[in-house]
Amino acid sequence: METIDNIKENILRGGQFLVKETPCEDVFTPEDFSEEQKMMKESVKEFVDREIWPLKERFEKKDYALTEEIMRKAGEMGLLGIAVPEAYGGLGMGFVTTMLVCDYISGATGSIATAFGAHTGIGTMPITLYGTEEQRQKYVPKLASGEWFGAYCLTEPGAGSDANSGKTKAVLSEDGTYYSISGQKMWISNAGFCNVFIVFARIEDDKNITGFIVENDPENGISLGEEEHKLGIHSSSTRQVFFNETKVPVENMLSERGNGFKIAMNALNVGRIKLAAACLDAQRRVIDGSVKYANERIQFKTPIAKFGAIKAKIAEMATSMYVGESACYRAAKNIEDRINIRMSEGNTHQEAELKGVEEYAIECSILKVAVSEDIQNCSDEGIQIFGGMGFSADTPMESAWRDARISRIYEGTNEINRMLAVGMLVKKAMKGHVQLLEPAMAVANELTSIPSFDTPDYSEALSEEKAILAKLKKVFLMVAGSAVQKYGPALEEHQQLLMAASDILIEIYMAESAILRTEKNIKRFGEEAQKEQLAMTQLYLYNAVDTITKKAKEGIVSFAEGDEQRMMLMGLKRFTKYQNMPNVVALRNLIAEKVTAENTYPF
Ligand SMILES: Cc1cc2nc3c(=O)[nH]c(=O)nc-3n(C[C@H](O)[C@H](O)[C@H](O)COP(=O)(O)OP(=O)(O)OC[C@H]3O[C@@H](n4cnc5c(N)ncnc54)[C@H](O)[C@@H]3O)c2cc1C
Repeated sequence: METIDNIKENILRGGQFLVKETPCEDVFTPEDFSEEQKMMKESVKEFVDREIWPLKERFEKKDYALTEEIMRKAGEMGLLGIAVPEAYGGLGMGFVTTMLVCDYISGATGSIATAFGAHTGIGTMPITLYGTEEQRQKYVPKLASGEWFGAYCLTEPGAGSDANSGKTKAVLSEDGTYYSISGQKMWISNAGFCNVFIVFARIEDDKNITGFIVENDPENGISLGEEEHKLGIHSSSTRQVFFNETKVPVENMLSERGNGFKIAMNALNVGRIKLAAACLDAQRRVIDGSVKYANERIQFKTPIAKFGAIKAKIAEMATSMYVGESACYRAAKNIEDRINIRMSEGNTHQEAELKGVEEYAIECSILKVAVSEDIQNCSDEGIQIFGGMGFSADTPMESAWRDARISRIYEGTNEINRMLAVGMLVKKAMKGHVQLLEPAMAVANELTSIPSFDTPDYSEALSEEKAILAKLKKVFLMVAGSAVQKYGPALEEHQQLLMAASDILIEIYMAESAILRTEKNIKRFGEEAQKEQLAMTQLYLYNAVDTITKKAKEGIVSFAEGDEQRMMLMGLKRFTKYQNMPNVVALRNLIAEKVTAENTYPF
């Protein structure tokens, strides 16, 4: 029985996965969904299949009104209030369930996934998390029910990744009762149909921006640009928003003056992990469509699914899916547990949720990058499996590919998130929240010692994979540890090195999540029942070892020379060495044959 006390004892802090071993029993997997969660998943899937998927073509033809209509229906079903506390008209469900809804709502079209994410995440969360009691009572119930819709105005023409550099101004009136906001916001999702904007503006010459809740009233100096012509998410409303001396009562300031950048960043942490979830079902549907097509399409008198070249694609697509969902739900449960621990210690829901998500900000960035790139690669291979038909707008691969592209850009570009992941880890190490120094020193010492020539016993399933994972963590510690020593705070200027370190970090987290899920499931369901899952885990790790080898090499030669470089490259060889090289072709065949036989993504 899981109690707060034993969760508290075992839970790792954000980023600690790198230096601490997680017993497989401690990870949450999609096989652990409760009955309530399974019901929620089925009802969202049914909603998508009934209300969204059949109207796919209208979404591609930029039917913005349809997006609004579907969002209202989602509100009627209670889906917009999943994460909102009951006191404000929501369902107050746990973090895992909110991730599950983001996951399955993403299945049909990126337009709805974006509208849903912008409204429930960055459009509503800043008020639930930072609003005063009055602000929450006034706005949140309307947003939770879908009576009103929200949008988030951070980006400006001159302030994208550098979000704190915005020029929008907020000037206090002489009588001190309202702020007058003027400025131009860009790329605002849901702008065309929203009732409330979360707007970030600067007061005087403050270092940091301030957040405001602004009701959408065209009579109050608010006007919109035309809908942007976009590559994908065609029915998601994206417009510029102009504020011209818009009067906002002082009581609509969010949190305190100058706190806006913090609000914006924390809202984005939550947004990032939910965005990762919102790529998952999109990916399942791409796999489902691809395998069905591959089974039906005959060339050379053979279903193309039987060709090795196609099998390899199907196997890799299923593998990245399996790994992505393993990692997303693992992190989601960590966040949920952290929130529950904080609430048991007397934190309000607001404080608990903020701190709970902030704790795992590293994992949120990792997931955002990894899963957004998975859906991109997967839909690209989906097009390839469809051949010429994949290039046609008459098949769903084309829109899946276009819709996937945005996920690498918004909620912080993948470059920014890669740098953030490593940057936050280094900061946590400096604060003593994650002990990186001693393990990094231990690895440095190991490099100069004679390696063991014992032959370990790897007969137990996943034992060699776990040993390799432990060594991959040493690769990160070796590269990042030496880089920090070499450059100190100037490390942030060495972006290519940071990006390489980040890729190593990402691969470790993703591979570990798959290993732990499969290990847990082998223990309870037996190895035979998990043979394809085992194969996917092994295949992922094999690819991860390759990526890590390449990235580590790149990093090492960028800052180490002579003997130091030779020693680190030798260490890298040692840390990435298999005793028993997996036969990846056989692994791919096994995975592809299962997916093809089931004619869908079956895991
Ligand atoms: C469809 C869509 C919907 C959106 N919805 C919203 C919304 O609802 N609300 C909102 O506020 N914003 C929204 N955005 C804006 C989005 O968050 C930004 O586009 C994104 O943060 C990137 O900013 P930018 O476009 O100005 O690119 P830039 O910041 O100019 O970046 C351009 C390139 O330079 C790189 N780069 C930038 N800075 C650095 C650096 N320091 N080091 C290394 N590389 C760097 C980037 O990674 C990128 O590759 C949306 C955008 C789109 C396209």
